[in-house]
Amino acid sequence: MKTGIILLGLILFIIIPETVQDGFQQQREQMVKRQLEARGIKDQATLDAMRKVERHKLVPEDMKKNAYRDGPLPIGGGQTISQPFMVAFMTEAIMPKPDMKVLEIGTGSGYQAAVLAEIVDEVYTIEIVEELARRVQGDLKDMGYNNIHFKVGDGYHGWEEHAPFDAIIVTAAPEEIPPRLVEQLKEGGRMVIPVGARGTVQNLQLIEKRANGKIRTRELMPVRFVPFTRD
Ligand code: SAH
Repeated sequence: MKTGIILLGLILFIIIPETVQDGFQQQREQMVKRQLEARGIKDQATLDAMRKVERHKLVPEDMKKNAYRDGPLPIGGGQTISQPFMVAFMTEAIMPKPDMKVLEIGTGSGYQAAVLAEIVDEVYTIEIVEELARRVQGDLKDMGYNNIHFKVGDGYHGWEEHAPFDAIIVTAAPEEIPPRLVEQLKEGGRMVIPVGARGTVQNLQLIEKRANGKIRTRELMPVRFVPFTRD
């Protein structure tokens, strides 16, 4: 009898975490199908990365069940983890390739950095809120990412030591495009950035730096990001 109970306990101990794990995998598959493919995300590398990254590990405990929902989520301190579609859209917009070096401004939950790290060689990410940056650095290391480099500070200045970058993704909205970021973009490189006044709907812009250094700007869609703060 006793051995029976112990055995049953052991079986449940093994099965329950497996099922929960499978549940998240299934939710990711659905997220990719319904939120991304259905809305026109086509880049295979982006879709594969979004199928893989464990978003639920980067949200607070009480948000885990909502991790794969079609929207942004609060991650504490007034900050948010972006909507999965927005992460996919911005990732696709930079046309990510394995040999690339990408800069992200606004580490936040670390989710966008993890998605990038699945695709490109090196990810450099800057977060202005120190406590958030420290926590996320630990989370991403625990998840096995060792190609993400962290910096605490104001992303307005970019990351000169590692410039130029093949692409830059900015996930907080400044009122104007920070000029240093454009400078730190490689020729042929792309930057996506939400631009707009505080409290208004912003414009997601795609900046392309041509081989001759000329800048081309396109407006992609109206968006709502948290404000780009300054030191
Ligand atoms: N990329 C994040 C989204 C984070 S929300 C994710 O995948 O979860 C935007 C983040 O930008 C916030 O954490 C905010 O603290 C940070 N931020 C705002 N202004 C910044 C600045 N000037 N430099 C660096 N980070 C900034």
